[in-house]
Amino acid sequence: MFNLQFALSGWPMLLPLGEAGRGFQFPMYDLQQLNSLPIEDVARRLGLQVARHTCRCFMHDDHHPSLFFSVAKNRWRCFVCDVGGGPIDLVMHRQQLTFRDACHWLADSYGIVERPSSRSSVPQSPSTYIPQLSIVNSQLSIAKGQNSFTTALVTTGMLTQEQMTHAAARYRLGSHEDAVVFLQIDADGFVREGKVMYYMPDGHRSHERKPVSLSWLMKNKMKDGEGKALLGKEWTASHCLFGLHLLSEQPQTVAVVESEKTAVVCSELLPEAVWMASGGLSALNAELLKPLQGRRILLFPDTDLDGTTFRRWSAIAEEASTAMHQPIMVSNLLECHASHEQKQQKIDILDFIGD
Ligand SMILES: [Zn+2]
Repeated sequence: MFNLQFALSGWPMLLPLGEAGRGFQFPMYDLQQLNSLPIEDVARRLGLQVARHTCRCFMHDDHHPSLFFSVAKNRWRCFVCDVGGGPIDLVMHRQQLTFRDACHWLADSYGIVERPSSRSSVPQSPSTYIPQLSIVNSQLSIAKGQNSFTTALVTTGMLTQEQMTHAAARYRLGSHEDAVVFLQIDADGFVREGKVMYYMPDGHRSHERKPVSLSWLMKNKMKDGEGKALLGKEWTASHCLFGLHLLSEQPQTVAVVESEKTAVVCSELLPEAVWMASGGLSALNAELLKPLQGRRILLFPDTDLDGTTFRRWSAIAEEASTAMHQPIMVSNLLECHASHEQKQQKIDILDFIGD
């Protein structure tokens, strides 16, 4: 249901340029076009014997066809290998090609020509973007369905299944193994970084499995150093607010919280605002708020016993407000209304409205 690959299909092409793309010039095809090529026809061109929407899998010793095609979704999957994807993925796996070469293969096969990028502006500092998430998808398999986070939110009753599906699509949540991937996608649709987090069935974060960043996963878990090569030597994380890409919805009001989970849940429960998350107490700074210029901005800091977080976020709001020439409001709801015990537990707005 939550399939990042589908969520990705509307993304602008990610062009690694400069340092990040050194020796890795990306063919400028319309990826949506390539991924719309009929999947069974692509399979036949790859020499697979397709019959009744199945064929024998080429990745394992398959005697009864276990590779299935969904013509409706234009996708394939082997249920034994648990590997699948769209046309580009099929070419990559069948021909053992890189993403770039698989695009070339498809384009050659169907007579598709490269075209200039339709983007009027390429990123100014591409070494801060994570290029070609589709490779990350197939190699790190962050395109899969449910994960510990989406499951927990529904089973604990925080969100209905419909709300979870809606929110997952809006925030383009991904899955890696059982972890949720919170992507930081900027206002131009570029992925800056991601946070991979494991949740317990009660909806709290796992204490055993520490969160890692998407770039860390790419560097450490992708074969043959491909993740490192993709990012490039000069790559540095350049964070943005989680949910920043939702500026495309032209919201009047943007609410900023600390935790991604709170943003996701509040987006469904309190849809009057577009909810974004700093991703950590100390992660918020005035720079992160600048893209929100011109919106009504509300900050919802977590609470604590001595009001440290509230004061820190108030100071950041003041600095940003001066720089952006507009008011930025900091909610004192929790400072005024949370109980001593709740402050001790350092609750946030979601804990407060959920109680
Ligand atoms: Zn297989």
